[in-house]
Amino acid sequence: MTAVHVPGTPAIEDGQLVSTSPATGVEAGRVPVTDPSEVAAAVERARAAGAWWAGLGFAGRRERLLRWRSLLARRIERLAQLVHDEGGKPVPDAIVEIATAIEHIDWAARNAGRVLGPRRVRSRLIVAEFSGHLEYQPYGVVGVIGPWNYPVFTPVGSAAYALAAGNAVVFKPSEYTPAAGQWLVDSFAEAVPEHPVLSAVHGLGDVGAALCRSGVDKVAFTGSTATAKKVMAACAESLTPVLLEAGGKDAMIVDSDADLDAAADACVWGALTNAGQTCIGIERVYAVEPVFDAFVGKVVERAGRLTVGADGADIGPITMPAQLDVIRRHIDDALARGGRAVLGGADAVRPPYVHPTVLVDVPADSAAVREETFGPTLTVNRVRDADEAVRLANALPYGLGGSVFGRERAVAIARRLRSGMASVNSALTFAGMSTLPFGGVGESGFGRIHGEDGLREFGRPKAITRRRARSLLPSMTFERTPGDVARLVKAVKLMYGRR
Ligand code: NDP
Repeated sequence: MTAVHVPGTPAIEDGQLVSTSPATGVEAGRVPVTDPSEVAAAVERARAAGAWWAGLGFAGRRERLLRWRSLLARRIERLAQLVHDEGGKPVPDAIVEIATAIEHIDWAARNAGRVLGPRRVRSRLIVAEFSGHLEYQPYGVVGVIGPWNYPVFTPVGSAAYALAAGNAVVFKPSEYTPAAGQWLVDSFAEAVPEHPVLSAVHGLGDVGAALCRSGVDKVAFTGSTATAKKVMAACAESLTPVLLEAGGKDAMIVDSDADLDAAADACVWGALTNAGQTCIGIERVYAVEPVFDAFVGKVVERAGRLTVGADGADIGPITMPAQLDVIRRHIDDALARGGRAVLGGADAVRPPYVHPTVLVDVPADSAAVREETFGPTLTVNRVRDADEAVRLANALPYGLGGSVFGRERAVAIARRLRSGMASVNSALTFAGMSTLPFGGVGESGFGRIHGEDGLREFGRPKAITRRRARSLLPSMTFERTPGDVARLVKAVKLMYGRR
């Protein structure tokens, strides 16, 4: 008989991390816990594998990464089931998540050579006797620390790009989703059996902390802002570079000329998919006065139709039990400060589920507006115009993504959002476009995954100049003469001195 544990709470038994369904408590998988003192040794093993991997060159890595991609594509249903069993995510949502991750592997594998490979850069008149050469060389070993809410998409967003760039990766999955993490590592080992180029270390936060201090050459962290700060502090001790993908409180702006049906549809999806446990989830909406009531009506109608439950429902359980208290506090606080629930409300939290909740007229200083809720809740507030909407959207320290619905001004509004990403007349769609960089500003972190910037994030720029002729204006030598310096002065005035 399958053992049933405290739903969703990871337990350690006989040196194994036991992962359970937050809905049923049924065991989803178990993995060996890594002692923090062994993490550095895992990194050293990865270093040796990484040297082999880097030696394969872009073409060799591309072929192997595409092999891994194909394997994931062929087994997409199996992995989706595991993601569902372990984190509670509805299977169709898990499919969408994995499909997006597969696209990223494909793009990173196919484009790494073009973006990072050796190339000539144009010289300039003042140094015309030299040619310029640029390439992005792998760091060596990249430590990837991942969260539980998108246990495939988030680590792959870093790992696929780091691997394509020629690095080995040591991955620390969240303690809530270690089985999905190990599945990724095992499938990679099937596609690339020669060396452990992608490996995992498992455990609680202390294992992640050990990874930061293990001698890795870069850390790519995805998780909460609070932990991001700890990761950065730990990495500062050894000046290990970090990429931080942290939390968010993304806003949607609905302008007066928006298609309200499309806006409501995207809003409900953007806010409630994965039970709202999405870093780029829509948590706040600012709708302009003339369309506010009609928009709220459409949102409530759509969100009210969603089903909540373990299997086959639109909204699954809250993965991390402790998050239920945060969600309850945000709803209660919003209501206590004068907000109104037009759907759900105080009794929406029914562990392990939270029923869709739409709050309107919520004061700007309430927790539901200021802090990341990470639940299937949404605040919708009325604004005079798009300017006020932008001001309120930009009023928080977070700045991850955002969405704008409208026609005339929508793109201009999107550009004014203080965020790393925005989607116009859709929600969350930038995450699936592998050609675009993904990342935030302010308390949402820094650095980029995905796209060309995401590839460059995992390579050190190596700049080389090569002499191709004698210097006409020799200056970087003690052999220069006063005449050479005088000619340089003349040239500088000629080239740069004119207005
Ligand atoms: P956490 O910050 O709690 O954990 C993230 C990872 O860090 C986990 O693997 C965790 O391990 C590990 N960790 C914990 N403590 C330390 C430490 N001191 N040093 C190093 N690593 C440590 O985040 P969650 O897992 O709760 O994920 C949810 C958060 O992630 C949300 O805030 C969400 O917005 C954000 N997120 C951001 C994304 C982005 O791209 N910007 C994407 C997805 C999520 P353990 O689980 O074992 O404690």
